[in-house]
Amino acid sequence: MPAKSIRNGIELVVARRSRKERRCETKTHVCVKTIYPGERYAYSSLPPWSEISNERWWHHTTCVACVNLYHPEIAKQLFGT
Ligand SMILES: [Zn+2]
Repeated sequence: MPAKSIRNGIELVVARRSRKERRCETKTHVCVKTIYPGERYAYSSLPPWSEISNERWWHHTTCVACVNLYHPEIAKQLFGT
């Protein structure tokens, strides 16, 4: 089954299942969550020169709890929660 993905403007957000331990990169709020192997997370990508003035592709890992909390509409579409 292909990974579920949605577009949020030019941002692409993909629902992934982690194969290794990784950290949630939500920095504007304190998130100390570790994403363990087998857990789902959201992987966001922005092309260069988006609204955040990134010079290269920008990628961001967000745990399901943070997506649920801060982006409930995206969570609903990606994770069905
Ligand atoms: Zn988080």
